[in-house]
Amino acid sequence: MAVDSILSSPLGPPACEKDAKKLQFIEEMTRYADSVQERVLAEILNTNSHTEYIKNFNFDGAVDRETFKSKIPIVTYEDLQPLIQRIANGDRSPILSAHPVSEFLTSSGTSAGERKLMPTIKEELDRRQLLYSLLMPVMNLYVKGLDKGKGLYFLFVKSETKTPGGLLARPVLTSYYKSDHFKTRPYDPYNVYTSPNEAILCADSFQSMYTQMLCGLYEREQVLRVGAVFASGLLRAIRFLQLNWPQLAQDIQTGSLNPKVTDPAIRECMTGVLRPDPDLAEFIAKECAKENWEGIITRIWPNTKYLDVIVTGAMAQYIPTLDYYSGGLPKACTMYASSECYFGLNLNPMCKPSEVSYTIMPNMAYFEFLPHEPDSVGVLRDSPPQLVDLVDVEIGKEYELVITTYAGLYRYKVGDILRVTGFHNSAPQFHFVRRKNVLLSIDSDKTDEAELQTAVENASILLRDFNASVVEYTSYADTKTIPGHYVIYWELLVKDLTNSPSNDVLNQCCLAMEESLNSVYRQCRVADNSIGPLEIRVVKNGTFEELMDYAISRGASINQYKVPRCVSFTPIMELLDSRVVSTHFSPSPPQWTPERRR
Ligand code: AMP
Repeated sequence: MAVDSILSSPLGPPACEKDAKKLQFIEEMTRYADSVQERVLAEILNTNSHTEYIKNFNFDGAVDRETFKSKIPIVTYEDLQPLIQRIANGDRSPILSAHPVSEFLTSSGTSAGERKLMPTIKEELDRRQLLYSLLMPVMNLYVKGLDKGKGLYFLFVKSETKTPGGLLARPVLTSYYKSDHFKTRPYDPYNVYTSPNEAILCADSFQSMYTQMLCGLYEREQVLRVGAVFASGLLRAIRFLQLNWPQLAQDIQTGSLNPKVTDPAIRECMTGVLRPDPDLAEFIAKECAKENWEGIITRIWPNTKYLDVIVTGAMAQYIPTLDYYSGGLPKACTMYASSECYFGLNLNPMCKPSEVSYTIMPNMAYFEFLPHEPDSVGVLRDSPPQLVDLVDVEIGKEYELVITTYAGLYRYKVGDILRVTGFHNSAPQFHFVRRKNVLLSIDSDKTDEAELQTAVENASILLRDFNASVVEYTSYADTKTIPGHYVIYWELLVKDLTNSPSNDVLNQCCLAMEESLNSVYRQCRVADNSIGPLEIRVVKNGTFEELMDYAISRGASINQYKVPRCVSFTPIMELLDSRVVSTHFSPSPPQWTPERRR
């Protein structure tokens, strides 16, 4: 396909011949979304017809949508867990997928407190790579000249474990960065990073971050975009700079590498980067020593055109802080993906965060949509859910995403609620509304109401010796500090005022809560330092009654009033904070070790 024929495409003129092909691919996939979906389903069913899972449903080789929908149930992770456990234990028979399971991807979504394990197959890497390859051609339509400089991206690998059957279990991005697709990617002038692979691939988060920051500082003039996967990751990098700039400046001054960076691969590759640059060192020290860090990103990296970070969903809470540090640079949310499957991309990445919509790419999996009507929960319980196909969703409506993947998930509920905002050709575009059942999230952690309840219950055991109990509680994700942390407001009933729980006991309650939270939370606390110590704020007796009075004054029904288990509305926060009698923090991090898979 010639570049000219793309000129008339709704996406706009491509930056180069390679981009033209990619944009044309997007056009084709979205124009023929329904037939692509039909083909994808047929391919998945054909390939996997002899798997134990599919054979259970007496398909007789059918690959059409009607048979599929009438025979295959909609499932959650918990339904598949026994089968997944067998694969993890070493059963190599074709259980879910005809192709051998190559590894497990560990989701940040948890089940029974542990990360969910998503079986994947080799060819899924190609599919993920394909989606990545579409991002820059789209970005190049909106931002010119990205081939004239580099991207400063803070990218990290995380710890990996092995299942009892010997398969690797690790996060999807760790799997991607360690793959040849990433490590031996061909040179592309539009996609040059300041971070060397050696730094990205170093498992020690301090050494990795230190090196990536140092390289970013050396190349400050070349940096055209600054990014991380999620907004929280970029803010962690800013915090890192706040804590480590004197040493970084010293390294630049002398052209040597901090002895704390011991990784041999990093030390070797950095010999080609390090050089004494006293002017640069002085500049960094001068900027970083200033009390005011407003606009620090553009002061240090003056040619930055945009921030490349996800600020949709739970990450929206970081927008004001990012604006503060970047002087309001555009924030590009480029893609929507998960461990289960990569879904799609934003075709208008320079839009405002509130307007971000992701176009699901019909070649990635077979997609169905469960209509989500928040106000009628339970009303339709007896009627079977009617799932809608990709091209049949309606603008303005909300749906829960259900996927059937090449790796062997069939009609699997992802847990994301999406709202249709429009269409590109016949492919719908979705606003990410929220993840179901998530109450608190700071980084990749997701804490639901039941987990919070259990944590409060476990912590209140420590109050028993004092004849005290928690009568009410609510929570708040405090992201004003970096890293952010969980704040739990407690109203206590203390029966014997001469023996009320001490500051020390309440600090221990904070830790007991953290010990009860899921493994992703604890990993963020311990290994990533991306969540700060949990805080309990004890409020005056009667505070939660005042909270109810306030809600009723604003129209809540007295009969139906329930204490909100998470708050963020400013007047409510102000009310709670004005009634705080004492504050307490976890004295130490909770226990966390890379998960052992039974
Ligand atoms: P994980 O289970 O760790 O692979 O995380 C995948 C989940 O992260 C998705 O199901 C979404 O809930 C969330 N997520 C991924 N990409 C985005 C995005 N662009 N905007 C909002 N949430 C996202």
